Amino acid sequence: MSNQTYNFKDYIRVIPDFPQPGIRFKDITTLLKDGAAYRAVIAEMRDAVKHLKIDIVAGPEARGFVVGAPLALELGVGFVPIRKSGKLPGETITASYDLEYGKDVLAMHKDAIQPGQRVLIGDDLLATGGTIASSINLVKQLGGEVVGAAFLIELLYLNGREKLGDIDVFSIMTYE
Ligand code: AMP
Repeated sequence: MSNQTYNFKDYIRVIPDFPQPGIRFKDITTLLKDGAAYRAVIAEMRDAVKHLKIDIVAGPEARGFVVGAPLALELGVGFVPIRKSGKLPGETITASYDLEYGKDVLAMHKDAIQPGQRVLIGDDLLATGGTIASSINLVKQLGGEVVGAAFLIELLYLNGREKLGDIDVFSIMTYE
């Protein structure tokens, strides 16, 4: 592993007015395609959360998978996918959520989390917090304890953290 220090924001491409006017879309694909930078950012997230004694990581589709799954591997724990409703094949529980641009329903398998497990939610970006508040709701329905949430990016001006209650929130990059 190299000791190079990264300014990860240099790897994020900001696209104005996508997917609708007024949204400044933070494109993480420009970070993901650089293997060394991707690995380094996940390692930084791991170091930020490893003290939380996490049993399992959960992440909402689709970009929560490309953050949550490698983070779980780095932590040596399993990964649980949170999906749009209608996609998971087994018995599910659901919760509705709001996006910065839109609304949807999230689902998780009923047997995904065991009661009392310490859960970390991983996702690419914290905007309004609707997705993560809903993900926390799903974990709680199953008796899991959400101990933290970790993001590549946090949009501070949307105050998403305020929706997440009393958990540790970590973000590698912030935008004002
Ligand atoms: P939210 O529920 O508002 O916190 O946003 C949830 C998801 O929407 C994030 O995890 C991103 O995948 C996506 N998203 C929202 N706003 C942006 C943005 N400005 N740039 C890129 N992705 C975004």
